[in-house]
Amino acid sequence: MPEVLFPLDSNRKFRDQEKIGHNRWHPDVPPVATVRPGQSFRVHCREWFDGEIHNDDSAQDVRDAPLSIVHALSGPFAVQGAEPGDLLVVDILDVGPIPQEDSGPLAGQGWGYTGIFARENGGGFLTDYFPDAYKAIWDFTGQRATSRHVPGVSFTGMIHPGLMGTAPSAELLAKWNAREGALRATDPDRVPPLSLPPLPQDALLGSLSGGDFERAAAEAARTAPPRENGGNQDIKNLTKGSRVFYPVYVPGANLSVGDLHFSQGDGEITFCGAIEMGGFVDLHVDLIKGGMSTYGVTENAIFLPGNTAPQYCRWLAFSGISVSTDGEQRYLDSTLAYQRACLHAIDYLTRFGYQPEQAYLILGAAPIEGRFSGVVDIPNSCATVYLPTEIFDFDVRPSTGGPARVDAGPGAPRAAN
Ligand code: ZN
Repeated sequence: MPEVLFPLDSNRKFRDQEKIGHNRWHPDVPPVATVRPGQSFRVHCREWFDGEIHNDDSAQDVRDAPLSIVHALSGPFAVQGAEPGDLLVVDILDVGPIPQEDSGPLAGQGWGYTGIFARENGGGFLTDYFPDAYKAIWDFTGQRATSRHVPGVSFTGMIHPGLMGTAPSAELLAKWNAREGALRATDPDRVPPLSLPPLPQDALLGSLSGGDFERAAAEAARTAPPRENGGNQDIKNLTKGSRVFYPVYVPGANLSVGDLHFSQGDGEITFCGAIEMGGFVDLHVDLIKGGMSTYGVTENAIFLPGNTAPQYCRWLAFSGISVSTDGEQRYLDSTLAYQRACLHAIDYLTRFGYQPEQAYLILGAAPIEGRFSGVVDIPNSCATVYLPTEIFDFDVRPSTGGPARVDAGPGAPRAAN
């Protein structure tokens, strides 16, 4: 086992650990450790809400989820010799749930969760159709996930970090704040918001304190969006065996990681949409000096996906086009087309006895594939979503005999408004 450079004590909150991570992006967050190119190391990760979501049958915790504390990120790790302009090569050697025998109170200890965020607290891809908070708890048996809140389905986890990236330079951070602020200014009262401004409340910036903390917290970027540095890309294919090439913007690169997922569908559509968990990740780092200009990777990471994902090979696919549910024609709107494909799949699954919310949770958590299938055929783009048929305990395909009825149980817990 590689040396643990970022240990976490399961009995303490993220900000009370021996080494303190961070939940905002800022170039001044001090590294927790320095590693050499060629070195492997282990990092413990807390799930993104630091233990605020519980293994129970209520969704009140998802409704009230404290978005100001996310994401609990482990790091940063400085890499010796890394300079702006280099590419940081990160191998995901291994990644898994919290290595403990007994299931415990923290997500990752034998269980994880998927939430549908309420429109007033985060929202999601289909928030216009699903404005209330729901939750599903998933139990892990080896590599498999099942849920008492979503019967009739089980699948092999595609374990991956939802969030990994390098620190921004001061210049890059200023660029993020300017462009995201300009977008927000176009509709400042929108719910959910168009973007999230810096938020000193609950900011955690490693060991920064005093005036340095105050100044940095006022401008540090929230961790929700993916950006040039990688960040919250939520790419389900970043599994064990993946190699990612990140642009380096600050001396040392300052790599951070967190938001581990046991599984996720393409798009992470419920926002709290993967199976969220805490765990460990083993990383190996190296450098390609000057690699940003050599390969043209100056903005946004490139990667070689791992090849250890579950190999589902039979699919039932749903298509959608860029026409709204009200019948409004939009021009090549692939996001709308993907929404329509997902709504199509959700409606289909209700024919087998699922609540719409259970179907939505399946699409967020299971290893579904999403594609922009056509983007040029004016005026309609076409998007598709692929459900692996093997994850269902029953035959989910259309047949002349009509849909089988799954015993969907009492359903996913919903939070009162
Ligand atoms: Zn996540």
